[in-house]
Amino acid sequence: MDEFEIINEFLTLNVKNRKDVIQGIGDDCALLKVPRGQRLAVSMDTLIGDVHFVADSNPEDIAHKAVAVNLSDLAAAGAEPSWVTLSLTLPEFDQQWLTAFHRGLKKIVDYFGVQIIGGDTCKGPLSITVQAHGFVPQQVFIKRNTAKAGELICVTGNLGDAALGLAIAKGELTDVDEDSKEKLLKQYQRPYPRVGAGIALRGRATAAIDISDGLLADVRHISQASGVGVLLRWERIPLSEAAKKVADKPLLMKSALSGGDDYELCFTVKEDEFEATQQALETVGSTCIAIGRMTGKPGVRVLDHDENVAIDTFGYQHFG
Ligand code: ADP
Ligand code: MG
Repeated sequence: MDEFEIINEFLTLNVKNRKDVIQGIGDDCALLKVPRGQRLAVSMDTLIGDVHFVADSNPEDIAHKAVAVNLSDLAAAGAEPSWVTLSLTLPEFDQQWLTAFHRGLKKIVDYFGVQIIGGDTCKGPLSITVQAHGFVPQQVFIKRNTAKAGELICVTGNLGDAALGLAIAKGELTDVDEDSKEKLLKQYQRPYPRVGAGIALRGRATAAIDISDGLLADVRHISQASGVGVLLRWERIPLSEAAKKVADKPLLMKSALSGGDDYELCFTVKEDEFEATQQALETVGSTCIAIGRMTGKPGVRVLDHDENVAIDTFGYQHFG
């Protein structure tokens, strides 16, 4: 199969065209319509085999994650996803791999109602780059550098499950019951980005980020960009039943504070907006847990029963 046959067979997804796609896959360029009154929000992420994922892992999971991590960035900005482009570098033509990859891709783009509108296909070491596009009115675009001292810092969902799932996948965490294993692995392999929550946070969150590199690492981005400190309380960090069942406290702390891949949203709100925000998130199926407060004192601190938790890791960093 040549490049063009691969594109035809595996990447043209036969999805119903979105109304805002004038030209999708198949020409030199895609041609697209941005709705009146909205801005185009754009984000890109690359997943490299054996850097971001085990190269021989399930192609359906790889496709899911490549799209999910990008939609998560849009969610953190309050944007509604619309289109994605896909750059695929494959070491060889492997029909079985491409069939599974295509299945994963189709499932997640259909789930979120987004359309693949183009891309590129080359031969080389396995690498997947997705660029996601979405819409958001300019006045409710949620940034990182706009948190203020005194505001509450909150998260959606539970933290640490994905890191525990990874530890299970790598065989580092054994002695785990089947039910917990399945739940934690799923969080690692098929995260569902908080797209609805991001939209619900428009006009409410004063700043937001998605948790991809670990809570502390990502909170630090809000803190540094906004020029404020953060005080977190360990006992408020939301943990799943499965996580509590399989991990002791040190491992729970490491997974929930420094483990990556949760793809939950972390955001700040004014205290008197908290309840309304919690209700707005509830209507889209997300929890909203206040885990601490923004402060005037620089740095990120975590308290466990009024004692400082020693923090020695700030999440995953390339070139770190
Ligand atoms: P060009 O030579 O003009 O770069 P290509 O042969 O790379 O065009 O691509 C032909 C068409 O297929 C274009 O519309 C392109 O966007 C699309 N395409 C190529 N690779 C992919 C891919 N991996 N996923 C989605 N669309 C793709
Ligand atoms: Mg090309």
